[in-house]
Amino acid sequence: MTQGSTAIRTRFAPSPTGLLHIGGARTALFNYLYSRHVGGAFLLRVEDTDRERSTDAATQVILEGLDWLGLTRDEQTVFQSSRADRHAVVAYQLLETGKAYRCWCSAEELRQMREQAVAEGRSPRYDGRWRDRDPAEAPAGVKPSIRLKAPQEGETVVEDMVQGTVRVANAEMDDMIILRSDGTPTYLHAVVVDDHDMGITHVIRGDDHLTNTFRQVQIFQAMGWDQPRFAHIPLIHGADGAKLSKRHGAVSVLEFREQGFLPEAVCNYLLRLGWSHGDLEVVDRDEAIRLFDIADVNRGASRMDYAKLTNLNGIYIRKADDDRLTREVLQRLAHQPHLSLGSIAAARIRALMPQLKERAKTLVELANAAAFLARVVPLPMEPKAEAQLTAEAKLLLRDVGSALGETDFTVAAIDAALRGFAEATGRKLGQVAQPLRAALTGSTVSPGIDATIAALGREEALARISAAAR
Ligand code: GLU
Repeated sequence: MTQGSTAIRTRFAPSPTGLLHIGGARTALFNYLYSRHVGGAFLLRVEDTDRERSTDAATQVILEGLDWLGLTRDEQTVFQSSRADRHAVVAYQLLETGKAYRCWCSAEELRQMREQAVAEGRSPRYDGRWRDRDPAEAPAGVKPSIRLKAPQEGETVVEDMVQGTVRVANAEMDDMIILRSDGTPTYLHAVVVDDHDMGITHVIRGDDHLTNTFRQVQIFQAMGWDQPRFAHIPLIHGADGAKLSKRHGAVSVLEFREQGFLPEAVCNYLLRLGWSHGDLEVVDRDEAIRLFDIADVNRGASRMDYAKLTNLNGIYIRKADDDRLTREVLQRLAHQPHLSLGSIAAARIRALMPQLKERAKTLVELANAAAFLARVVPLPMEPKAEAQLTAEAKLLLRDVGSALGETDFTVAAIDAALRGFAEATGRKLGQVAQPLRAALTGSTVSPGIDATIAALGREEALARISAAAR
């Protein structure tokens, strides 16, 4: 680990106790963007000190989510649990310099202390009873914890890059435990030691951590270490203003992937959810790196708007590369029954992709719209499509089939042939296209009929038409 580097270093420090939710992803994104904007480094620290609640599966989900969002890290992932010895060393250092002390309170004593405080209407806090007491009075056979000898006068001030100056009177904070009696570090202590050792210069995280920051600052000060700059970003709420939860819709990053969102759309949405630059809405990765600054992070809580994300996703689908979208669609169709997914279907989907993607807002919609290209005759018919195939329509299909049999299979030639056919038989183009669409797709919606026919190719198109004409 590098120490004392002057370059800017940020980190994302998730606890692997659950999903990578959308709030965590935004925190990671802001850290990533800021480090890239200033040419610094972006690091990942997995805060797995709580061995009971941390799981490897959750760590995997976090890594997968970050990779999917394209938030690449610059150094090896640091696992907080592997650093417990170092956390203890620092606690003992504080003890030696008189900045910390041993506390022999039993769990029972602490419980009584809490109850009494609550009964007297005070906030439950440690009363400092071992702060100045002679260790010679320690009860036998009890293992002590180590507590920080926190300043009791004055105030602890944080110049937050988002929240501005925030302060708390030191009298309001008790002497926190930094090393438990079983020798394990507390979370607040571990974070400070790790941030210091990793050379973190900027801590960007959710504003639910602001109260922790005062305590962490006290540890930095006790060690005489340089403090990082802090930026506490407002949380994300649901559209109703309540804390974002499952009932608002997807909250896990991988669930958004499942639902057919592109990572760049999710990143763009998350960026705008809490940061703005004029009225710029569509901001791709490069532009985000160029423009992002913590100074432009909003102070107010933001609200998750799924409709807005979906619209943005549609914009990114239209911008996306057709080969990539084809791969995405094929992957999704692989889970659907009754499809023939070979190279032929892939070629058809790729051929029609420029038109298909114009209408889709998610990859799920895109895959569903493309599925007909991978079906086999006889096609399943939606009731509305079935209704199109009247006896008269079947006669028409027979004639259109013949006309198409004699044309080139380019989009332009097909278009010309269909127009010619409509004109020669005194029909509007739509009257010809509707039964054709039903015959070729089994539905009543598809991209332009000429492009659809061309994508299917002569043999398949004619087979579908004659099957529907029967
Ligand atoms: N591990 C904390 C969390 O997942 C973040 C701590 C931090 O960023 O300092 O909420």
